[in-house]
Amino acid sequence: MLEGKVSIVTGSTSGIGLGIARRLAAAGSGIVLNGFGERSQIEALRADLERELNVPVSYSGADMSQPGEVVNMVAEATHEHGRVDIVVNNAGIQHTAPVVEFPPQRWDAIIAINLTAAFHSIRAALPQMLERGYGRVINVASVHGLIGSAHKAAYVAAKHGIVGLTKVVALETAGSGVTANAICPGWVLTPLVEKQIADRAKAEGISIDQAQDELLSEKQPSRQFVTPEQLGDLAVFLASPGGSQLTGQAIAVDGGWVAR
Ligand code: NAD
Repeated sequence: MLEGKVSIVTGSTSGIGLGIARRLAAAGSGIVLNGFGERSQIEALRADLERELNVPVSYSGADMSQPGEVVNMVAEATHEHGRVDIVVNNAGIQHTAPVVEFPPQRWDAIIAINLTAAFHSIRAALPQMLERGYGRVINVASVHGLIGSAHKAAYVAAKHGIVGLTKVVALETAGSGVTANAICPGWVLTPLVEKQIADRAKAEGISIDQAQDELLSEKQPSRQFVTPEQLGDLAVFLASPGGSQLTGQAIAVDGGWVAR
């Protein structure tokens, strides 16, 4: 379905980004992986994806906190693959603390990586999408782009911000063949959430299993984790012709979290 298309997926060396990259590649799209990690492991991942799914896969080590590197990533991807059709802004970090104790440097880093990087990648990639009359901006926001939770000031601000950015890009591109949407996951069991589970277990003196149970039952009515592959399936649908009138939306995939 996406044969001949090229997708950049930021933060795809792990977790949700990797799940989305796999599904887009399985649908035929070439992929630019991005994110941190051990170089040899990333190269093995890149080569495996390319071999298994028979699409071109490259890697960019661009640091999403650095606007210049975000812009270069888009330029290099265009040079290497000849085009960029789909940009998935997924790279993200978390820090939890009450607002009065929130370290300003963590605030700056979260806003830079979870929000500002998406502005720069969209700004860099949009002209060629508009020129070809097809493009997809897929921003991985969060249920925290729709509602708040205590101790997540920077994250909730960045995620609400990216939902707003998505709406503006959708309005500016409406009718052009380009769409922009935000995916808003509830809890997904990735390293980002494993850390929160471990912190909770430690703080409350309970087991990891108990902390995981508590985390789910507190917020996510299904009491099941969303998977990266389910989010990847949604990204493939958004990129497909069926998604061409679906734009400007913040789509919750959250086991019922925001329905309460
Ligand atoms: P993760 O920690 O597994 O993956 C994060 C990815 O981002 C990694 O590949 C990491 O290397 C990359 N990354 C981090 N900082 C970077 C930087 N400066 N430059 C480039 N890459 C960088 O986390 P995840 O849970 O897969 O999160 C992915 C996205 O999904 C984030 O935006 C997160 O906010 C969002 N999200 C996650 C959940 C969840 O429950 N896990 C829920 C809602 C939204």
